[in-house]
Amino acid sequence: MSIYNFTQKELENYLIENGFKKYNAIQIIEWLYEKKEKDFNKMTNLSKKLISFCIEKIDINTPKIIKVEKSPLANKYLLELKDNNKIECVLMNHDYGYSLCVSSQVGCNMGCSFCESGRLKKVRDLALDELVGQVIAVSNYENIRIDSIVVMGIGEPFDNFENIKRFISVVTNNKMINIGQRHLTISTCGLVPKIYEFADLETGVNLAISLHAPNNDIRDKIMKINHAYKIEEIMKALDYYIDKTNRRVTIEYVMLAGINDSDECARELSRLVGNKLMYVNLIPYNETSNFDMKRSNDFKIKSFYDILKSNNINVTIRKEMGGNLSAACGQLRAREEGSEIC
Ligand code: SAH
Repeated sequence: MSIYNFTQKELENYLIENGFKKYNAIQIIEWLYEKKEKDFNKMTNLSKKLISFCIEKIDINTPKIIKVEKSPLANKYLLELKDNNKIECVLMNHDYGYSLCVSSQVGCNMGCSFCESGRLKKVRDLALDELVGQVIAVSNYENIRIDSIVVMGIGEPFDNFENIKRFISVVTNNKMINIGQRHLTISTCGLVPKIYEFADLETGVNLAISLHAPNNDIRDKIMKINHAYKIEEIMKALDYYIDKTNRRVTIEYVMLAGINDSDECARELSRLVGNKLMYVNLIPYNETSNFDMKRSNDFKIKSFYDILKSNNINVTIRKEMGGNLSAACGQLRAREEGSEIC
């Protein structure tokens, strides 16, 4: 079992159950996360008995980085898990610091029609140590401190909700990864019951929704999940979330030429968002040769942006970080598994 598979509370309970003291958990956590020690033998304030217990029962391994693609704004890492499955994460170098985009599952079952991840059907959820391991592996490899995390890689985080809750606990624990709640963002395609549960956690963790369409007709065509949860239900859940947390929600909107980028779509989206505590992030589509969908051209994106602006909607256009390195979800892994994309 990996040491990264424990929250603080779980490690305390595990050690107590095995005859050790609660404070031993904090001792180990400090060695691991603060001093970055990888050898139990060198954790000098632990008893001999605890050291041999840890060596016998626990390892300090993370997923192995097997491939790196670098570009000036973003690096992409392919990682291999213990069962040989592969996942990917992307490191972005923003002016406000390093941001890591992590995967939540091996593959994805949501089946959005424009997304590579969906072609690689879900194999399994990622365990906590595989979520945390992406952060540890990349920050060790680059010898940097990661300042913020977005769960926007391969997979649907709300379809792996229990482990995402534990991940939030490890990431925001100031003795562990120690990233503030406001620097962690979870992105979902809109699993409505989980939006309510997430709201009820009352954390300061950010929520992003992949909306990608201003009405059910268009959304039905590009996102399978819309057959289960309609836009009205998502908006109602978001109202509940905003009411409960007073946190601004990010609406992600991938710009697909001729599908969701008309002026009418922009007006419809403006009406949907209205004066809610939301902001819209327009995402230029990262084209792949497996789908015939095209990226809206810059002129279209700008006019869509202008219409939202003129309706007083908070809106930004996402900077394209990884277009030339297949950084859109699932693209690197898909290529490694033999399907040509770039
Ligand atoms: N399942 C979650 C998180 C993973 S996808 C979700 O749906 O939010 C992260 C974001 O990237 C989503 O908004 C997704 O729609 C978008 N995305 C997927 N493929 C893309 C592509 N080729 N170009 C641009 N954005 C893409």
